[in-house]
Amino acid sequence: MSEPSPDVYERGRGMDAHNKVMREIRGLKEKHYDPHEPTRVWIDEDNTPSGVYQSLTIILNTGGCRWARAGGCTMCGYVAESVEGGTVEHEALMDQIQVCLDHEEENAEEKSPLIKIYTSGSFLDEREVPAETRKAIAETFSDRTRMVVESLPDFVDREKLDDFVSEDLETDVAVGLETATDRVRRDCVNKYFAFDDFIAASEEADAAGAGIKAYLLMKPPFLSESEAIEDMKSSVRRCAEYAHTVSMNPCNVQRYTMVDELHFRGGYRPPWLWSVAEVLRDTADADAIVVSDPVGHGSERGPHNCGECDDLVQKAIKDFDIRQDPSVFEQVDCDCKGTWRAVVEEETSYAMPLAK
Ligand code: SF4
Ligand SMILES: [Zn+2]
Repeated sequence: MSEPSPDVYERGRGMDAHNKVMREIRGLKEKHYDPHEPTRVWIDEDNTPSGVYQSLTIILNTGGCRWARAGGCTMCGYVAESVEGGTVEHEALMDQIQVCLDHEEENAEEKSPLIKIYTSGSFLDEREVPAETRKAIAETFSDRTRMVVESLPDFVDREKLDDFVSEDLETDVAVGLETATDRVRRDCVNKYFAFDDFIAASEEADAAGAGIKAYLLMKPPFLSESEAIEDMKSSVRRCAEYAHTVSMNPCNVQRYTMVDELHFRGGYRPPWLWSVAEVLRDTADADAIVVSDPVGHGSERGPHNCGECDDLVQKAIKDFDIRQDPSVFEQVDCDCKGTWRAVVEEETSYAMPLAK
């Protein structure tokens, strides 16, 4: 696989105009974080190819995403959570893991069979997580069943994945593909890689005996509600050929992003929860586990309906995540569904949002 350099990331990839705007916006950030503390950690439940497991999700605080430093994706505010200076040492990263283990011991009755590690970047990028740390983390969790590590396709490499596979862990790489449509990924998300790179990464993971979990983003800026729905329906089906699990997540408005600027000026509305339900219902027959975890549901900056039915629809989505049964959506209804239908039919990308 190609070795990315900051120069390559900086020029000629993504849209220069998008990168320029994102750099200016990110320049406003003021927060700094302790390299000995993870960005976030929590316990949840996840549907995997080998069953539903209690999961420990860790967001490691690494130096942050290199692409984000060049400008980065239009919706991603994670760089604002990175440490100052750019890199975090092995010892500090292992301190973060210890904080997560302590959190698990305090908040769960048993050890989680599933460990998911995200870095707001690439866990497999050795400038973010050195090889020494990666191996130590694999050993730390060798008594668990499954492991998910997040990475951009460039860094997926069979030798790195072998650290986990050789510990007898069912290993998956979580790839933030966002959409299977190259034009939308480049022009709306400002992400630099192509669907073909994702396919190559899935082949590399397969050669290591690992699987792929694809993350999709519903409704990046500049797409109307109906375009966003169609983009997700086709993306879920195309991804299912290469990934055993697809996590389709609605865009939310994060601070210090282009999406935030657009939203502030009335030019962006996160997707309706009805749209999320519609994609899940339509793609229920795809050959993959398809889940969604709407963050900030029901709020103006998160995916939302009318305010009355948001919790109910969110509950149906979470039900679907575990049972994969599209009939859960027949049991929820609300008057606002008529408004949503009108938006889907009438909204155009040059005159939106049509409704709040
Ligand atoms: S979405 Fe991922 S690749 Fe894009 S800027 Fe954020 S962390 Fe980097
Ligand atoms: Zn409603």
